[in-house]
Amino acid sequence: RRAEFAAMRDLPPVTLDGRRITLMVNAGLRDDVSALDVTGADGIGLFRTEFQFLVSATLPQRERQQRLYRDVLEAAGDRPVIFRTVDIGGDKTLPYMNHDAHQEENPAMGWRAIRLALDRDALMKAQARALLEAAAGRTLHVMFPMVSEPWEFDQAQALFETQRRWIADRNRPLPTAVQYGTMLEVPALAEMLDVLLPKLDFLSIGTNDLTQFLFAADRSHPKLAERFDWLSPAILRFVARVAETARAAGVPTAVCGEMGGRSLESMALIGLGIERLSITPAAIGPVKAMVRTLDAARLRADMARWLAEGAPDMRARLTAWADEQGV
Ligand code: PEP
Ligand code: MG
Repeated sequence: RRAEFAAMRDLPPVTLDGRRITLMVNAGLRDDVSALDVTGADGIGLFRTEFQFLVSATLPQRERQQRLYRDVLEAAGDRPVIFRTVDIGGDKTLPYMNHDAHQEENPAMGWRAIRLALDRDALMKAQARALLEAAAGRTLHVMFPMVSEPWEFDQAQALFETQRRWIADRNRPLPTAVQYGTMLEVPALAEMLDVLLPKLDFLSIGTNDLTQFLFAADRSHPKLAERFDWLSPAILRFVARVAETARAAGVPTAVCGEMGGRSLESMALIGLGIERLSITPAAIGPVKAMVRTLDAARLRADMARWLAEGAPDMRARLTAWADEQGV
């Protein structure tokens, strides 16, 4: 089927009932950008900037960060790239960085991502400058990881805006616009959508961390890997509620967790009203093939009914539905 997916490169991901689904790729290194041309994806929905930090022997200085971001933007051309600020700390410790001496018992829930970046703000200031200068003359999309409360978004955005003014004061070239968004991967943030959404240009649901926090189940624990299903009604109801609230507020909402890269899971997400997916490049072909055979409105109606009933066997129902409909 590889050749079949390759042949679809230039066909749009449109459902049978005319919904244009935005399919983007997850990336993290310079070479990953070639996936845009190979797959015909709409852009990079998640660029994990911590990869550069993790593969470097020393802390990447601002100039090096900036060069990477500029190369990525140039290769992407007019397709958008959503840069996620560093998600380091926790288990992604950097040998050259002075983390706090004590070992964390629960690194995934520890001093990581935006928590660390707001405390060590020199790191985030350098990254903000690198991103703003790299995106001179175009739109910059910035996204913050592991935001748990709206004030963390405010503070991170204010830090970027301060750097933007600093650059403007020196009459250096700036992005034409900066769009700010956040990951939704900590369940508490979903309780604050009324406060959060008016601040955002976009939202992206990170189902990898979200699932582990929703079920209190370590995402890398081998004994738990099979236990909780991405298609369980708790996750689907959660995503449906966020998608619906964000849609009503007019905030474009994507899913960027690995869940979206599986055809049945991505079908279910579309059935919940998610029309933007950022997935692993290898999944673009299979997901696009699924999208082009899907009646999204029909699936939405059926899923809404099943979820209202609290049906525990969503995977079986979705599999049967896909077979029946020839998806
Ligand atoms: C996620 O948590 O779903 C996500 C996309 O981010 P990461 O996998 O990098 O934690
Ligand atoms: Mg995450």
